[in-house]
Amino acid sequence: MEPNHQNLIRSNYTTLVKKMSAVPVAGFLYASNIITDEMKQQIEVEKTSYDKNRKLISIILRRGPSAFQGLKRALLKANQRELSNLLIAKDDEDVTKSDYEKKLALARSLVVCTKEREAPESQPRKQIDQEKSPEPRCRISLDDFNDIFLTAMPYKDVIYIHIRHFTENNGRFTPTKKGVTFPMDRWLRFESLLPEIQKYLNNIGNGEREERQWHVGGGVYISLTPGFQTVDIRHYWKPEDAPEPVPTKKGVTLNHKKFTRLLEVVEQMHNHVPELKDVELCMLSESHQNQLGMLNCPECTPFGYDPLNVSMECNAGDLQDVETLNI
Ligand SMILES: [Zn+2]
Repeated sequence: MEPNHQNLIRSNYTTLVKKMSAVPVAGFLYASNIITDEMKQQIEVEKTSYDKNRKLISIILRRGPSAFQGLKRALLKANQRELSNLLIAKDDEDVTKSDYEKKLALARSLVVCTKEREAPESQPRKQIDQEKSPEPRCRISLDDFNDIFLTAMPYKDVIYIHIRHFTENNGRFTPTKKGVTFPMDRWLRFESLLPEIQKYLNNIGNGEREERQWHVGGGVYISLTPGFQTVDIRHYWKPEDAPEPVPTKKGVTLNHKKFTRLLEVVEQMHNHVPELKDVELCMLSESHQNQLGMLNCPECTPFGYDPLNVSMECNAGDLQDVETLNI
């Protein structure tokens, strides 16, 4: 472990020893290969929680370069976020930030533009329903009326980011179905588009005439329409007989003001979801190195595929070439 990270742990030693719950943290550290089974047992065998915590810290300080981030992740997974937040180093933030920026650039290069042509259109919408929900990590209003929020919400131990309309009942805010859900890697692809969307909205007065649309994963499309200073973010689905996916009511349309607000609060949301920095793009995973892996991925191929049109002999890269040639 780097000396600055060791110092950071030492400077928070008292709090960690008092408040940490060592057994689940050790479990996650073991699961991510940061500590060995033997070390996990050495921690568990200690009698008091104080001693268990001390043992865990003394072990982790002597582990390798990934131990520090591993500890932070383990604390998050073990629902000890306030302790994980103690371990944010100033320079550490800069390092991960630039890594994340690199990842954003990579994500941007992988998001395929599904529409780029001149042609205005308008769409329908609206429906309100209730969903029950656990406590959000954050809930940031995107307007002055508490109508639409950027939230980060755990569901079955996985964090999802939402842009969603809420309703208010006696001071209680309830999410509606009008909104978009982003698993973290889908969010990464969406975030990588934000500068382009902003540029488009800024240029709308200057005769921006091209319709744009991107698929960011799982059937969520980002659409820009000439003449409208709005961005539409929406789940699509593909009826059996439809040639192309069609928009559903699950989505939001942000005007320029709300979109600008979104840009302003993305960083704030990141502070509540440090896991975002560790997100991996499924497109780069081992399973996607062949064509079937990608075709079977619900993010990359949300509407299924026609097995008859798939040649078993080419890989994912080849498929892209075929598509380009057809166009
Ligand atoms: Zn995928």
